[in-house]
Amino acid sequence: MTNRELMAHPDPTKLSGIERQRYVVLHFQSRRMPCPSCGTRQNWYEAARISVDDYDPHQHYDGNPHRCIACGRRLVKIVPVISSDPWHWSLVPMPPDTPEAA
Ligand SMILES: [Zn+2]
Repeated sequence: MTNRELMAHPDPTKLSGIERQRYVVLHFQSRRMPCPSCGTRQNWYEAARISVDDYDPHQHYDGNPHRCIACGRRLVKIVPVISSDPWHWSLVPMPPDTPEAA
């Protein structure tokens, strides 16, 4: 079952425990959150430039930095302890002498 097929499952209660965890993570990361720099809403996959089906939950994506699809600023996903939103983007700090920081 592909990630897209899993996300479209009509009754997640019928999934196995592992599939249900994957289902929740896939939907969690699909929520479009605004870029703090330009406000463009984008989900985790769009900012990583991968399709939902290419996402592998066992792979670490630390070396694959997320970038805003509109302004190109580097982004990092933040999961707050207490918030009305499940997660949000934060800007990756840049050294002051980089061209993007101007
Ligand atoms: Zn942006």
